[in-house]
Amino acid sequence: MPQRKYSVTFWGTRGSIPTPGAHTARYGGNTPCVAVEGAGGGVVILDAGTGIRALGGKLAERQNGAVTAEILLSHAHWDHIQGLPYFRPFFSPGNVVRIWGSQQGEVPLEAILRQQMHPAVFPVPLDALSARLSVEHVEAGEFPVGEFKVRSVRLRHPGTTLGYRLTPAAGGGSLAYVTDNELGPGGRYETGPHWRRELVEFLKGVDVLIHDAMYTPAELAAHAGWGHSSYTEAVDLAAEAGIDRLVLFHHEPDHADGAMDELLVLARKEAKQRGGPREVLAAQEGLQLTL
Ligand SMILES: [Zn+2]
Ligand SMILES: [Zn+2]
Repeated sequence: MPQRKYSVTFWGTRGSIPTPGAHTARYGGNTPCVAVEGAGGGVVILDAGTGIRALGGKLAERQNGAVTAEILLSHAHWDHIQGLPYFRPFFSPGNVVRIWGSQQGEVPLEAILRQQMHPAVFPVPLDALSARLSVEHVEAGEFPVGEFKVRSVRLRHPGTTLGYRLTPAAGGGSLAYVTDNELGPGGRYETGPHWRRELVEFLKGVDVLIHDAMYTPAELAAHAGWGHSSYTEAVDLAAEAGIDRLVLFHHEPDHADGAMDELLVLARKEAKQRGGPREVLAAQEGLQLTL
């Protein structure tokens, strides 16, 4: 049986804070959001940064009243949830939205999302949404989401942050979404001594890896312990795990398009020297990959 393909579309690529303007027009100014659309018509959304607003508009237009959206959150930092209150499918009855993610310490994920829509800071509370909403707690492990098998892994980042690996249940290439992850030795995180080896194992056989590549090596030196990686570290990990295609992600807000072009050239040079990955891309808003 031929393997059925699915698409991966970048709606938000920027780390930390939106950076609209002419200087970021090509790589994008919206915070993290990636849509994975399966052959069966379902959509799995990786993070709910400000990029989810435009995606929500598209989904609402296309499937009026019948949207089923699965939203996998890496963690609950602002840049990964801030677009959620503006996700249009929330506001139509008949839509189903399931949010998957980790609780933060003792605080349930739903309580964090509720805070973000508390009347003190937002006009429409979470309870007033028309769509059917559920929030599922996940940890490192394996679980089905829509038409995908999902595996999750704990990352090195402040708070409980998860990376995800998606494989279509019907067979086909795998995608890994690993952002807000410090590959270097900085920071103190609740990951075990064999974390790096386990991460490499987790990524083996993945066709496309989307990874945090926020900094240049020089910038990283000033940001050790902030929970992010340099492009060289991302290339290094991809080479070690035998990844074919690496997508640099969670761009530093101060990196305008010209700086991103330069960073990408250097990352490709690095990959060539290391003998992998075969292809290195920097995520751009609107970029679509087929797996
Ligand atoms: Zn982030
Ligand atoms: Zn973060």
